Amino acid sequence: MLLGRALRLRCPICGRGKLYRSWFSMHAACPHCGVRFEREPGFFLGSIYINYGLTVLIVSIAYPILLFGYGFAETPLLAGALAFTVLFPLLLFPWARSLWLGFDQWRDPREGEVA
Ligand SMILES: [Zn+2]
Repeated sequence: MLLGRALRLRCPICGRGKLYRSWFSMHAACPHCGVRFEREPGFFLGSIYINYGLTVLIVSIAYPILLFGYGFAETPLLAGALAFTVLFPLLLFPWARSLWLGFDQWRDPREGEVA
């Protein structure tokens, strides 16, 4: 349930309000239930663990498999890996924050903390 809300980029409390107004711009509070998304200053720094961690995990697994397993040429593969490490975190950004919000709600549930 929380994971589904996070993957759909919805409020972790009510599941109805959208988290984002655009790709990089979040609503300060849920448009439906009014809960504040940023619980404290710097709250979303934790989403970097998800974004960076997933990027590193994918590259560190895919690179040796493609290089040694499938015999890809090293230079284009390195360029591809570099491009991936720049672009993938930008694509993952909304879900990294959303998953962080869901994780936080799972580990430290809150109710009634509205703006
Ligand atoms: Zn809500």
